[in-house]
Amino acid sequence: MSDPFAALDALLRVRLAHLPTPIEPLPRLSAHLGGAELWVKRDDQTGLATGGNKTRKLEYLIAQAQQAGADCVITAGAAQSNHARQTAAAGAKVGLEAHLVLHALPSEPPVPIGNLLIDRLVGAVIHWTDEGAPYAQTIARVAEELRAAGKRPYVIPYGGSNAWGLLGYVQAMREFAEQAREVGHFDAHVFATSSGGTQAGLVLGAHLAALPADCALIGISVSDVAEELVPRVVALANAGAELLGSPWRARAEAVQVNDRYLGEGYAVVNEADREAVHLAARLEGLLVDPVYTGRALAGLIDLVQRGEFGRGKRVLFWHTGGAAALAAFADVLL
Ligand SMILES: *Cc1c(COP(=O)(O)O)cnc(C)c1O
Repeated sequence: MSDPFAALDALLRVRLAHLPTPIEPLPRLSAHLGGAELWVKRDDQTGLATGGNKTRKLEYLIAQAQQAGADCVITAGAAQSNHARQTAAAGAKVGLEAHLVLHALPSEPPVPIGNLLIDRLVGAVIHWTDEGAPYAQTIARVAEELRAAGKRPYVIPYGGSNAWGLLGYVQAMREFAEQAREVGHFDAHVFATSSGGTQAGLVLGAHLAALPADCALIGISVSDVAEELVPRVVALANAGAELLGSPWRARAEAVQVNDRYLGEGYAVVNEADREAVHLAARLEGLLVDPVYTGRALAGLIDLVQRGEFGRGKRVLFWHTGGAAALAAFADVLL
């Protein structure tokens, strides 16, 4: 039978990540919760300046920037953006100057910590968003200034989520399918979802890998309501399918986004987020961050405790990274 992922191999890719990432059991957390058997896919260990899910996306995005003849990249995110940090590190690794448009803070921290510290160390140029302006406006200004200075900027979208970026997660699902021969299949995959590229790639990859039809892919939203996120994931997955020349199209009914754990919104740390960070650290020595992976884990913990999966069911938590931001949340975590 021909390899359903063959089209992926024909597309440009720059190797940036340590792959495959390990899949490990979480016996003490599973026993503590007393329900499903939990495992973790360590995508926090992709290796690039502390790693995370954006490194997989950047393997395809940086290749596009190079193909376009760019000499610098621009991307955007929150001050503690893991995506901006990994883009900056990828730029350093391949020799592309990185310009980060970061959401202006009420007051700039006196000393850069967490992701912001790493951004500085890897030599990124930081541009705070213009007063009250959306990212796109500041990105346009920075791009214009760079062009006026004779440079050739390439814009990498927010979260690295476009048809190219999500291919990193199509590749990740291919990698999982290979590992599943050893560790077995799972009844559900659970992960944090926000700009949607990770989920779109996993959904498309699950189709290509022909995962068992009853295997659930559950995105725990950390930022948006399902009503907004589901159509975004569908559009991204379809754009990815088109790039790969696949006639398959995603169905909104088959895309699972759980938005019950948003609390007060993106990056507003609540008690459940906090507890998930502490539980993973104390029971497994596993670091999750309160914005993404801690919130997704809080959702998973709640689903397990509600008996959503049933005893003995196997659940894989995709750890998408974020621990580099922990220092910036010390005051709300301790
Ligand atoms: C960006 C990010 C996510 C969400 O991935 P999307 O592709 O934007 O949905 C999850 N976890 C961490 C740690 C991230 O930095």
